[in-house]
Amino acid sequence: MSEVLKLVRENIQKLTPYSSARHEFKGNADVFLDANENPFETGLNRYPDPLQNTLKIKLSGIKKTDPSTLFLGNGSDEAIDLLIRVFCEPKEDHILIVPPTYGMYKVCADISDVDVRQVQLLTDFQLDVDGILKESNQHSKILFICSPNNPTGNLMAKEDLERLLQDFPGILVIDEAYIDFCPDSSMVSKLSEYPKLVVLQTLSKAWGMAAIRLGIAIASPEIITLLNAVKPPYNINKLTQQQALSFLDKENEMQDFVRRSVEQRAKLSRELSGLNYVLKVYPSDANFLLVKMKDPSFIFHSLIDQGIVVRDRSRQPLCEGCLRITVGTDKENDFLIATLKSLQ
Ligand SMILES: *Cc1c(COP(=O)(O)O)cnc(C)c1O
Repeated sequence: MSEVLKLVRENIQKLTPYSSARHEFKGNADVFLDANENPFETGLNRYPDPLQNTLKIKLSGIKKTDPSTLFLGNGSDEAIDLLIRVFCEPKEDHILIVPPTYGMYKVCADISDVDVRQVQLLTDFQLDVDGILKESNQHSKILFICSPNNPTGNLMAKEDLERLLQDFPGILVIDEAYIDFCPDSSMVSKLSEYPKLVVLQTLSKAWGMAAIRLGIAIASPEIITLLNAVKPPYNINKLTQQQALSFLDKENEMQDFVRRSVEQRAKLSRELSGLNYVLKVYPSDANFLLVKMKDPSFIFHSLIDQGIVVRDRSRQPLCEGCLRITVGTDKENDFLIATLKSLQ
């Protein structure tokens, strides 16, 4: 049994997946009477491609990886949920998370009744590799790491990720939701070396397609096959597949948007640092800034009074006093700064 298969829950190893009508018939035909669809053309009367092959071929060109290494989910949140359901036996296995981090890993584990072990980041927001390995055993099925990390904004050191890829006993999931803001730091190039690596990406951030709900898991074909076996048969609807295909032609526009965001982030960071109640603006590799200040609750509510919503992260470990602020348009950022200046 392969290294990956040994980590899979027994019921999933034995699973006979649902086989949809569109799955079973693969040839060309003119008359489809196999899926109880409405035969009258509405543009949307047929079930979509369950494995999204056309979209995967397009994405594989952009991500420089083979289509067989791609899984598409209803947002990356679906991939997070499915990974837990494939690998973690409820009440027996656990996942590891490294707070402060994205909230969905724990919520998905809680829903599946899977324990969560937490190993806090170091004070510089980097990984406590020794602490993680000390907490790990044969029931540590998945370690979730977000890089660049939400809410702290920093990339995790590559040497630490590589050490964990070598020594962590389970699956290492690296959530790269913000990687389009620092594309050279992606771990996708390591996939061929590490069969237990899963990289999550999304069209929800830099690509500007949060509304269509399309997340991507990139991993060994063995892991992709497992995710496909467990997913709902038609998890990506046809409208989403169409929109993604047409937006993905505009990679230049996405890169332009990233350039503008990065420029605005630098300006915002400078302006924020000049405010008398701001204690620290943390460096960011993503499209948001974590900002430590004297009275975050007062600032948070004063901003809301002016119609500006930011995220209060002050109750997260290591984030005392911190608000998380997304980089907006030039105009939005100017309004934010003007409002913040008036609160000095
Ligand atoms: C925004 C975000 C996602 C994206 O989730 P989708 O379901 O793809 O919209 C994933 N992970 C992190 C850390 C995020 O911040």
